[in-house]
Amino acid sequence: MKQENEHEVPWICDKCKEKLVLSKVKVTYLGGNFEVELMKCPQCGNVFIGEDLALGKMLEVEKGLEDK
Ligand SMILES: [Zn+2]
Repeated sequence: MKQENEHEVPWICDKCKEKLVLSKVKVTYLGGNFEVELMKCPQCGNVFIGEDLALGKMLEVEKGLEDK
């Protein structure tokens, strides 16, 4: 039997229908600043946090940090 990696479905932004890309995002967690890689829409900059991410809802993503 062949093992395929179909479990990882690419995430799509609801708004733009764009495929999310892994991007470094600055987040605030428990008062500290961290840089983590999250799935992000290249179009609108929306950041998606997976449920499996342990930090979960306590994560506050600082948006608009990477200005163009
Ligand atoms: Zn988007």
